[in-house]
Amino acid sequence: MKLKFINCVTPVSRLEWIEENLGLPFELFCKHDELTGFITSGNKIRKLEYLMKDALEKKVDTVFTCGGIQSNHCRATAMAARSLGMQPVLFLRGRPMEIPQGNVLLDTMVGSDIHYVTKEEYSKIDEIFATKKEEYEKKGSKVYLIPEGGSNALGARGYVDAVKELSGQINLDGVEAIFTAVGSAGTYAGLVAGLKSLGYNTRVIGINVTKDPSSLFVEKTKQLIEGLKEYGIAVSLEGSEIEIVDDFSGPAYAVPSEEDMDLIKKLAKERAFFLDPVYTAKAFRGMLEISRGRFAGKRVLFIHTGGLFKLFDNPAAYVK
Ligand SMILES: *Cc1c(COP(=O)(O)O)cnc(C)c1O
Repeated sequence: MKLKFINCVTPVSRLEWIEENLGLPFELFCKHDELTGFITSGNKIRKLEYLMKDALEKKVDTVFTCGGIQSNHCRATAMAARSLGMQPVLFLRGRPMEIPQGNVLLDTMVGSDIHYVTKEEYSKIDEIFATKKEEYEKKGSKVYLIPEGGSNALGARGYVDAVKELSGQINLDGVEAIFTAVGSAGTYAGLVAGLKSLGYNTRVIGINVTKDPSSLFVEKTKQLIEGLKEYGIAVSLEGSEIEIVDDFSGPAYAVPSEEDMDLIKKLAKERAFFLDPVYTAKAFRGMLEISRGRFAGKRVLFIHTGGLFKLFDNPAAYVK
């Protein structure tokens, strides 16, 4: 089935290896509240429960994945891989920082091999994966490839499951629309398929946070939903049920608009509610604007997909 990375009840464990390592004269226990989903936070964990299970079954020792420099997906994958004793290998679009910050700090701390690639190189990432895979395998590694965002059909199953979980927490028939950020569409596709397969008609509105046109993500959503059939999740869609909106993508991928920044600062200041500048701020703002017009008097639901480590790569932007 899948691995369990998401803990509802955080565990207590004895840190025997620290006791031994540090020669402690007492027994050391730890209540793992870091595992509420914060450290390995966000939506990618749901996908990785399936993907890393597959990696374990294939008996690999090395996991490749790729993304933008501050990719949450790469960070979550690096942590998941290392937690299973595997070597994470990340292909990050961008240039190395003098001192790693934000997600890259965490990528580095778990000992990821980081390969920095240019935008041009990234557009041919499959070729780079193939070449590097050969290199690693020559040195005796066994490599598992995870696509950008963990967004293949197997990863999307994580969000089919998330809908099941959600259906026990809120009456989904009473929810007019569910909103999520769209970066590689796995989350979106899983939500749509999950709702449909359980017989809900709740619409899912995706807010595209990239400069690729939404038509691309509509196509990808269809492919992912088609791919879910392999796992016994068969739903038929009319195209009109896929609604992905381009209007809130801001100046560029990972670059927030002034409105996004204002929203981040305002919600943090007023209610200690945090959004990130790459995904959730754009999605939240889109949700607010769209719902004001279309869903007055109705109930809408926002999927907070995480991403907060990005705040720490440029602190100056938030204290101005
Ligand atoms: C990756 C990511 C998303 C987008 O999810 P996709 O499945 O890639 O579309 C949304 N929010 C955060 C914080 C993310 O890291």
